[in-house]
Amino acid sequence: MEQRSLDRLGDEIAELSAHIEAATAHLLDMILEFDARGGWNTGFRSCAAWLSWRVGLDLGAARERVRVARVLATLPSLAQALARGELSYAKVRALTRVATPETEERLLAVGRAGTAEHVERIVRGWRRVDRKAEAQETARRHASRALHVYQDEDGMVVVRGRLAPEVGAVLVQALAAARAVVYPKNVPAETPTLAQQQADALGLLAETALHYGIDPGAPGERYQVVVHIDAAVLADPDAPGQSILEDGVHVSAETSQRLACDASRVVMRHAPDDRVVEVGARTRTIPPAIRRALHHRDRGCRFPGCGVRFGQGHHIRHWAHGGPTTLSNLALLCRRHHRAVHEEGYQVARESDGDLHFRRPDGQLLPEVPPPATVPADPADVLRARHEAQGLSIDARTSTPGWLGERLDVGWAIDVLHPLAARPRSELPAHRGSFYE
Ligand SMILES: [Zn+2]
Ligand SMILES: [Zn+2]
Repeated sequence: MEQRSLDRLGDEIAELSAHIEAATAHLLDMILEFDARGGWNTGFRSCAAWLSWRVGLDLGAARERVRVARVLATLPSLAQALARGELSYAKVRALTRVATPETEERLLAVGRAGTAEHVERIVRGWRRVDRKAEAQETARRHASRALHVYQDEDGMVVVRGRLAPEVGAVLVQALAAARAVVYPKNVPAETPTLAQQQADALGLLAETALHYGIDPGAPGERYQVVVHIDAAVLADPDAPGQSILEDGVHVSAETSQRLACDASRVVMRHAPDDRVVEVGARTRTIPPAIRRALHHRDRGCRFPGCGVRFGQGHHIRHWAHGGPTTLSNLALLCRRHHRAVHEEGYQVARESDGDLHFRRPDGQLLPEVPPPATVPADPADVLRARHEAQGLSIDARTSTPGWLGERLDVGWAIDVLHPLAARPRSELPAHRGSFYE
C-alpha cells in the first residue's frame, strides 16, 4: 500500500514537471518576442538584465534563458519537444550549446534516449571536437596572414595582403581617419574614387608613422578625451555655444556634460571671445578619498537591476550648476547608465530619506525591486487546464528517457553523431539509444 502511494506521488512529480517544461517553452517564446521587440530597453543593458531585475533570476540563469530562447528559434524540433513536455529544459539548454539545424534531429534523439547527465556528457564531448576544429581553423587563418609589397612593371608599387580581423579593423579605422584628413567632406565635385582616396590615405598613414615615431602610446593617452565647451553650455544645454571634442567632432551638450561629470579628462571651458577660461575640470576630479568612499558605499552602478562593478561618479546636481563634489551629491553609475541619465532622459534624484529614485523618461518610477506578479492559488491546475485546452497530452511518462540502464559510450556516440565524425554516417545505428552498450 505504502509503495503504491509513493509510486503515485512519483508519477505526479513527473507529470507536473512535464507541464512545467511545456510552460517553460511558452515562457521562452515570450522572452524571445520581448527581446526582439526591445521591451527591455527601458534603461536596462540587456534582456537578461531586465529578466534578472523583474523576475528575480540570477544574471547567469537569465542570460541562459535569453540565449536558449534565441537559439531555439532556429531549432524547431527541439523547441517542439520542449513545448510538448517531452524534453526537459535542462536537456534542451545543454543541446542548444552545440545543435545546428543540420544536427538538430540527431541531438534530439540523444535527448530522448538519455538522462540529463548523459546529454551533458555527450554535449561536452561534442564541444571538445568543435573546439579542436575551431582552434585548427584559427591557427590556419593566423598562419595565412601576409603582406606583399612589390613593384610592378610600370613602377607602381602593389600592395596585397591578408590581415587578422583585429589588425584589419585597426587598419580600416586608420585609413578612414586619414581619408577624412586628406579629403574633408565639403570638397566639391570631382573627388577621386574611394580606391584612389584609400591609396592617398595609406600614404599619409606611413608618413605620419615615420614622422612621429612608431609608438602607440600609453592606453590612457590614446583614449583621453578632450572636450572644448563654452562655459554657458556646460551649465545649460539649451544655451548657444560650442561643444566639440579635440578632433573637431561636435557632440551634444548633454554628452559633454556627461564627459565632464566625472572629469578624469581635460575640459577646456571657453569664454564668449573664445579665450580658454578654465583648463581642467581636472580640478573637479573627485578626490581619491571621496571616490574610495563612493565605491565603498555604492559598490557598483546604482541603476535598478544593474550593479556593474566599475562606474563613474555622477554628480546628481551637476558641478556646473553648483552641485558639490560630496558623497550625498554623488552616485556611482556604469558607463551605460551614466549615458542614460545624461543623454537619454532618465532621471535620478536623492530623496529626503537618502534613497536614490530613478525614473524612466516618461516619468515612471523604476523601483529597486519590482513587486512580484500575482499568481493564482492553484498554479498547477491552471497549467494543466491551459495545456489541455491547447490539446497537449502530458502524463507521468511524457518525459521518461528511452534509457534502460545500459552503459553510455560517449566516444562512440560522438563518433557516429558529430558532422566531423571519424565514422561514416551510414554506420549510425538505426534504432534509437544505440550508443549504449
Ligand atoms: Zn553624470
Ligand atoms: Zn549600470
